[in-house]
Amino acid sequence: MSTDTQAGETTDGFHLVIDALKLNDIDTIFALPGIPITDFLRMAQADGLKVISFRHEQHAGNAAAAAGFITQKPGICFTVSAPGFLNGLTALANATTNCFPMILISGSSEREIVDLQQGDYEEMDQLAIAKPLCKAAFRVLHAEDIGVGIARAIRAAVSGRPGGVYLDLPAKVFAQEVAKDVAERSLIKVVDPAPKQIPAPDAIQRAVDLLKGAKKPLVILGKGAAYAQADAEIKSFIEKTGIPYLPMSMAKGLLPDNHAQSASAARSYVLAEADVVMLVGARLNWLLSHGKGKTWGAGASKGWGKQQFIQVDISPTEADSNVAIAAPVIGDIGSALSAMNQAIGSGFGKVPSDWTGAIAERKDKNLTKMAETLSKNPPVMNFHSALNVIRNTIKDNPKAYLVNEGANALDFTRSIVDMYEPRRRLDVGTWGIMGIGMGFAVAAAAVTGEQVIAVEGDSAFGFSGMEVETICRYNLPVCVVVMNNNGIYKGTDVNPRGDAMAPTQFVKNARYDLMMEAFGGVGVTANNPEELDRALKEAIASKRPTLINAIIDETAGTESGRITSLNPAAAKKKTA
Ligand code: ADP
Repeated sequence: MSTDTQAGETTDGFHLVIDALKLNDIDTIFALPGIPITDFLRMAQADGLKVISFRHEQHAGNAAAAAGFITQKPGICFTVSAPGFLNGLTALANATTNCFPMILISGSSEREIVDLQQGDYEEMDQLAIAKPLCKAAFRVLHAEDIGVGIARAIRAAVSGRPGGVYLDLPAKVFAQEVAKDVAERSLIKVVDPAPKQIPAPDAIQRAVDLLKGAKKPLVILGKGAAYAQADAEIKSFIEKTGIPYLPMSMAKGLLPDNHAQSASAARSYVLAEADVVMLVGARLNWLLSHGKGKTWGAGASKGWGKQQFIQVDISPTEADSNVAIAAPVIGDIGSALSAMNQAIGSGFGKVPSDWTGAIAERKDKNLTKMAETLSKNPPVMNFHSALNVIRNTIKDNPKAYLVNEGANALDFTRSIVDMYEPRRRLDVGTWGIMGIGMGFAVAAAAVTGEQVIAVEGDSAFGFSGMEVETICRYNLPVCVVVMNNNGIYKGTDVNPRGDAMAPTQFVKNARYDLMMEAFGGVGVTANNPEELDRALKEAIASKRPTLINAIIDETAGTESGRITSLNPAAAKKKTA
C-alpha cells in the first residue's frame, strides 16, 4: 500500500488495542464494562474477541489468572478506573504470588489532572499503586505506543517466572486517532514470548550426583511443574528413577494420584524422613513449613532437618530463600528435566527398597483407614461422606476441572479427591485466598469447554457468589457444590452475650440453590450422598449451570481447617 492512498485513513486507540491482542493470539478477555472501556468491549466483541463480562472486577481478574495458568498465554482482564482497578488489583497480586501470567489493563483518568491532583472523575495514580503488587507495570500515553505496551506486557507476564502485569491506558488514548500506516507499523507480534531457559550442564550433573547418592530420595512437584506443561518429561523422570513423589495441591493429577510412586498418603512420613528432596516448581514457603522444623524431622520445632535439597526453578533467586539449596537447577522445567533424564540415561539404579517399602506400608495403612472413613454414611452428611461422592465423580470424569476453596472444604477435598489429569485442580494457591471460586470456574469452562465442578465452603462461596449470574448468562457447564454447614468453619459458634449471631455464623438452612435458579440455572438441595450423586450426574449429563446446596452436619469442621496453628490465639496458647 502506498502512503498516498493511506493519507487521511486513520484508526484509533480502541482498535489498536484489539489488533495488538489479536496479533498475539489472545482470543478471550475478561472484563467489567464502564467508563472508559464500555465501547472498547463492544468493539472487541464485534471484532471477534470473546468477551466475558463479570459482576465484579476481582472475579474477572481471577478468571484471567486461571486462564493464564491453564493456557500459558497471559489472561487479560479489563477494568474501569480507580475503584474498578482496585477491585481487580487483588486478583493481579494473587496471580503474581502464584506465578500465573495475567495482564490487568485499566482505563485511567487524565495524567495532567491526576498529577496535579485536580480532582478528575475517578482520579487515582493507578500505575504507582499497581507497581509494588505485580511483576511489571507500564503506561501508554500515545496510541502509537499501544503495540509496544502490549508486547512488553506479554513478555513480562510469561517470560521467566510468570506473573501479573499492569497496563495503564488513560481514557484519551483509546480515542486518539493514528494514521493507518503508522498504526500498522506500530504493532508487534511477540516472537518467542517465554524463551526456554536451558540449565547449565554442571548444575544438572550436581543434581544427578546428589540424587544418585540418596538413600531416601523424594521429589516434590509444585504448581510451577503443572504450569510448565512438561508432563511427559516429568512422568518419564519419575518413572525412570522410581523416586517417590509428593504433588503439591495444584500439581495433583500431573501424574494420576493413584500412581504407585505417589507418597501423598504417607506425606508426614516422607517429609520427615527423606534425605534428598528435589523440588520441581515448588517453593519452600509456609505450605512446606519453610523446609524446617518438625515437619522435616528436626528435633526442635525451629531446627533444620537432615535433608539436602535440589531445586528446579526458573527463578535464579528462589534458591536459599528458606534453607540452603545444595543443588539449584535454574531453567525451565521442560528443559531441566529433559537434561536430567538424559544425564541419568538408563543408569539410575534402584531406589533402596527399605525406603520404598516403608512408604508403601504407611500408604497402605492410611489408605485403608481413609477407605473406612469414606464408606461410613452418617445420618447427616459430613465432609467425608459428601466428598466421597465428588471423589467418585472426578474418577468417572477425569477431564473435569475441580475448583476448590474454603477452610475444611479445601483441606478435605485436597486429601480425599484424587486427580488424574494435569492442571485440572484450581484452588486457593500460595496465599490460601478466598474468593477465587466463581472466577476460576468461569475461566476453566470458557477457555476449555470442559465440565467444571466447584467445591465451595459456604463462606468461600459468598465471596464470588454473584457470579452465578455470569455462569448462567454464558450457559457454562459449571456445577457448584456448596458445602453448607451454616457458618465459617462450622455453624455452631455462639455469641456469649446472646444479642446477635456469632461472627462465624450464617443464616441457618440457607437455600444457596435458589441463587442459581434465580438466573435460570438448576438448583438442587442434597441431604445425603445419593441425592448429591444424582444431582452431580444430572449436571454433568446436561452441562447446565447447576448449584447443589449440600447440607453438611453443622458440627462438622474445625477452626481454620488445618492451619489452626496460624491463629494468633492458638499460637499464644502454644507459647504460654
Ligand atoms: P506450590 O505452591 O505448588 O508449591 P509454588 O507456586 O510455590 O508451587 O512454586 C512454583 C514455582 O515454579 C515458582 O518458584 C516459579 O518460579 C516456578 N516456575 C513457574 N513456571 C516455571 C517453569 N516453566 N519452569 C521452571 N520453574 C517454573
